[in-house]
Amino acid sequence: MRTIKVSVVTPDGPVYDADVEMVSTKAQSGELGILPGHIPMVAPLQIGAVRMKKDGKTELVAVSGGFLEVRPEKVTILAQAAEQSEDIDVERALRAKERAEQRIRERQQEHVDFKRAELALQRAINRLAVAERRL
Ligand code: ATP
Repeated sequence: MRTIKVSVVTPDGPVYDADVEMVSTKAQSGELGILPGHIPMVAPLQIGAVRMKKDGKTELVAVSGGFLEVRPEKVTILAQAAEQSEDIDVERALRAKERAEQRIRERQQEHVDFKRAELALQRAINRLAVAERRL
């Protein structure tokens, strides 16, 4: 079976590197599926899961947005934060979710940065979904 190299990279270093049969994720323009031989492209990503098909299994990485670049021999995903599903601390994500929900409830108060709280909530919900493989 043909494969393509995939790297997920963050400012803290690489999070995932493998040869896979297919990569799929959510670009801002919608679902994106990359097979070996895909034309070169760059796409901004949503907060979401990156799914890698490898040896009949699906590996999941949570990403907090970022960019996907497809080159003839390689897919690179650059994100501010990314975690493999087994590395996600579920308790931490639950605490982050609670905090964000609390901030959103207090949004009438001027000092609350609503957009920032919404994004924190999305990251937490995404981490929980990826950790529980609900995607
Ligand atoms: P928190 O409020 O818990 O820090 P956050 O969404 O603000 O959550 P980020 O700024 O996206 O966190 O990430 C900061 C760093 O912490 C990144 O390296 C990210 O991979 C890591 N990280 C955040 N939440 C988790 C988690 N639940 N499990 C494992 N790593 C996490």
